[in-house]
Amino acid sequence: MLKFLLFVGIIIAIYYLFFAKKKPLKTPENDISLEEAMIPCATCGTYVQAKEALMSSGKYYCCSECLKNKDKK
Ligand SMILES: [Zn+2]
Repeated sequence: MLKFLLFVGIIIAIYYLFFAKKKPLKTPENDISLEEAMIPCATCGTYVQAKEALMSSGKYYCCSECLKNKDKK
């Protein structure tokens, strides 16, 4: 029983560490937590949630305005 509680404690600790660490701009394909991460807009640098951001050719943009202006920088 004590071993079971220890095991559960370790799982919770790992789970907590995983979600406490937010890694912006790192392998979007493999990282599920990226949806929760804040990422900078490629045009203006404003940080937005990955799931709210617009993605185009591997880069993220905060709004359609920045997406349109991406080549002007
Ligand atoms: Zn922007």
